[in-house]
Amino acid sequence: MTEQLKLKFTERIVELQKRIGAIHRDFADGRDSDWSEQAGERENEEVLNALESEAKVEIQHLSNAITRMENGSYGVCQTCGEDISPQRLQVQPVAEHCIVCAK
Ligand SMILES: [Zn+2]
Repeated sequence: MTEQLKLKFTERIVELQKRIGAIHRDFADGRDSDWSEQAGERENEEVLNALESEAKVEIQHLSNAITRMENGSYGVCQTCGEDISPQRLQVQPVAEHCIVCAK
């Protein structure tokens, strides 16, 4: 079951990395636009930047979860050491803390 989840996480990481790659291509394409579009470009860049850091944070969480699967601490709260409830993991598979410590 964990293996399946690990595969899912790995696939998600690949997908996110592709997205980051696409964002970088968008940046490169946007460079030669004329002046009238510059303001819009800058706003666009901010959005792309936000998307990129979001994707990077998610990759970090996913790879942390994979590491925890490998060392057997996946599903265990990183603060109190209690098991994280399956319901919580279902909603948030990369959760590092139980519902009590997350608050
Ligand atoms: Zn806890």
